[in-house]
Amino acid sequence: MSASSKTGFSTKCVHGRKHTDKHDPHGRKPFGTVSTPIFMSSTFAFESVEHGAKIFAGESKDYTYTRIGNPTTAALESEVAFLEGAERGLALASGMAAVSHLTFHLVKPGEKFLYAKTLYGGTFAFFSHVCESHFKMKPIVIDATNLDEVAAAIDKDTKMLFIETPSNPTLALIDIAGCAEIARKHGVPLVVDNTFATPYLQNPIEFGADYVLHSLTKYLGGHGDLVGGLVVGSEENMARLHKDIYVDVGGCLSPFNAWLVLRGIRTLPARMDRHCKSAMEIAQFLSFHPKVEQVFYPGLRSNPDYHLAVKQMRNFGGMVSFLVKGGREAAAKMADNAKLWTLAVSLGDVDSLLSVPASTTHSTYSNEELRAAGIDPGLIRLSVGLEDVDDLIEDLRDALRTI
Ligand code: PLP
Repeated sequence: MSASSKTGFSTKCVHGRKHTDKHDPHGRKPFGTVSTPIFMSSTFAFESVEHGAKIFAGESKDYTYTRIGNPTTAALESEVAFLEGAERGLALASGMAAVSHLTFHLVKPGEKFLYAKTLYGGTFAFFSHVCESHFKMKPIVIDATNLDEVAAAIDKDTKMLFIETPSNPTLALIDIAGCAEIARKHGVPLVVDNTFATPYLQNPIEFGADYVLHSLTKYLGGHGDLVGGLVVGSEENMARLHKDIYVDVGGCLSPFNAWLVLRGIRTLPARMDRHCKSAMEIAQFLSFHPKVEQVFYPGLRSNPDYHLAVKQMRNFGGMVSFLVKGGREAAAKMADNAKLWTLAVSLGDVDSLLSVPASTTHSTYSNEELRAAGIDPGLIRLSVGLEDVDDLIEDLRDALRTI
């Protein structure tokens, strides 16, 4: 119902003068909007008891409750699924919620799964600590850049193969098609975290992945103003994830954040083109700088993953990592003296961000695990933003001068 002028103040506050399609004050037709509306409603009214019962019996797909589904969130889910070449998506409250919900769905206590050694530190901590200690799963860390190692570790009892490419923070690439072929032979679902590349640069499903997930917090949102996550896959797999875990574990995304991401996606290609172009210039600048020891960027021809990047990516991305001469102390001095680059975690924003992963995002790794993953304590990770690239290079040059 909607409030009328005769109802009390409290009733007016609760029911208002609803501007839904049914209650448009001028009787105009619904859904003429060009921008997707934000449906900030936790619940959706049934037409009758019978209608409500039909939805809960699975005989109607009408909306009931935002934790189960919401029109704004659904618009985002179908948009990202469309961009990834998948059939359906499910949006979650964060990238980690996407990782954890999918893992809970695929792996049960006592079952084993494989995960790549170089991952976002939160994902690594979830797999190596939480899954084992709280859920009694058997996580096995592997070097997925080596397909022989993947083939040796996998068998029919493996419940998931999880990779991230390009990897955070070393930007090492993993051969998606190679992993998919091995996984398929054993009937094991391949999950690819595509956060660094975005669907604009890479579509893992094209190479045989079963599930692709994103931290929406990064390039898809693109403006550093939200946290969100999303998983895409086949209709059948996503329907099972929705029924088995999504609804009852309850990690849904806010419709407002879904709307922010929808807005972000409208400029994704333009932003990514700029991120990639500037990252390439910065990687080249750093690779010729006398105080820089090594640059990690798949777009440099000297990078061992260059040919794999050309095979599975449409461009090389906006992330660059590097080592300065003088180790961790010199890296900290350089990082503390950058002015235009904000010293902060996260990535994919309009603002350029600089971080030292070993002591922040990847502090979840032990020293031994850092060494095994190739993450030097002094590694500097850059998320190249949308500022003028000359200004960004100038600021790096000034900061490097201080060491
Ligand atoms: N995957 C990657 C590659 C990430 O870099 C991150 C966060 O930095 C995540 C997943 C987790 O996403 P969120 O912070 O949205 O939970």
